Amino acid sequence: MKIVVASGNKAKLREIAQIFQGYEIVSMQEAGFAGDIEEDGATFEDNALIKARAVSRALGVNALADDSGICVEALGGAPGVHSARFCGRHGDDAANNALLLEKLKDVPQNQRRAYFESCVALCLADGREITASGRTYGRILEQAEGEGGFGYDPLFYSDELKMSFGKASAEQKNSVSHRGKALAALAEKLKGIQL
Ligand code: IMP
Repeated sequence: MKIVVASGNKAKLREIAQIFQGYEIVSMQEAGFAGDIEEDGATFEDNALIKARAVSRALGVNALADDSGICVEALGGAPGVHSARFCGRHGDDAANNALLLEKLKDVPQNQRRAYFESCVALCLADGREITASGRTYGRILEQAEGEGGFGYDPLFYSDELKMSFGKASAEQKNSVSHRGKALAALAEKLKGIQL
């Protein structure tokens, strides 16, 4: 089955292709979608559905979107759905990370709990919509550790891996990540569905 991924983020696309094996994964650019999608939903699920629907309807294909972010307890769950544009500019990882460290500068180690959340939405060409979500827990480090991954990875110490996502290999991260868990849950749901 061919699935068009409704994301321009190459790192995410790579992670999705690694996790969602057995499907033909194509980026929305390769599939010919050039439109702009406004992610103005209040939840990760709303935004994942907005993105997947837009691509599915425009091209008449099966489209998969992920919406994800990091939720920090000491910040009341922020940046949450605003993770990509925390600093005011979309996708400026360095500035987003600097702002997160700044906001937590007086917060002690044991109060820096955080989790990544991902919601994935698959909108099928025939109009059916399936969603699933996943979380992974940890804490925000006081300084970056490692250079792997993307976004907040170097600042996130994973409870499950006992190291930062920035230090983890792609396989290690995928095995415990929010996106890995959401995609695994989606793949499980797909088993019970006539495609
Ligand atoms: P989205 O593309 O609208 O889902 O925005 C997700 C944003 O959340 C990214 O730009 C990152 O800042 C952050 N994020 C989501 N997943 C991850 C991850 O696996 N590692 C690091 N940062 C992530």
